[in-house]
Amino acid sequence: MIITKSEFSVSSPNIQLCPKDTKPEYAFIGRSNVGKSSLINMLCNHKNLAKTSATPGKTLLINHFIINNEWYLVDLPGYGFAKRSKTVQQKLEQMITSYILQREQLVNVFVLIDIRHEPQAIDIDFINWLGQSSIPFSIVFTKADKLSSSKVAPTAAAYMDKLKETWDELPPYFISSSETKRGRDEILDYIENINKT
Ligand code: GDP
Repeated sequence: MIITKSEFSVSSPNIQLCPKDTKPEYAFIGRSNVGKSSLINMLCNHKNLAKTSATPGKTLLINHFIINNEWYLVDLPGYGFAKRSKTVQQKLEQMITSYILQREQLVNVFVLIDIRHEPQAIDIDFINWLGQSSIPFSIVFTKADKLSSSKVAPTAAAYMDKLKETWDELPPYFISSSETKRGRDEILDYIENINKT
């Protein structure tokens, strides 16, 4: 897919305030610092699209970006940020949960995992919850440039093996780097192919 246009659309505190049109939505989520903003900017060929919305407070909202006037890229708040108060954390979880479970336009959730990290309970629990809730999702391993190239594929495969302990059918996965643009074509083609069907 060639991205001809990408623009910030709206930040919403709940799904009632999300865009009213029915364009397909692809959501990106992961732990804080996983490289989500960088990945979004890399996919959209835009230096600071995601940062535009990342002014204080906005990282706690559902951020919609309209791509090629055809689909929305949705930047969901990062989970598992220890410094947040319990009340903020609960509010966030409720917002993310209701968006994922209730948003009819949602086509796929991309769960971002820092490729350097061993499988962490918070990510595995989230992935298991998506699967149990029958939400279509894929995994994006980020920051691949931080591992030596011979380690990248085996590390991703080992992570997927861990998921196999719970799931017979593994989700698709992508290996990405915002530094080298690795994974860009694969992720965008994946979205394009779903949009076509
Ligand atoms: P977010 O909190 O998930 O939005 O993460 P950011 O996109 O802000 O990235 C967190 C940190 O990781 C920043 O210092 C980025 O420069 C760095 N980072 C993000 N993606 C990559 C990547 O693909 N490769 C490398 N080497 N660093 C990255």
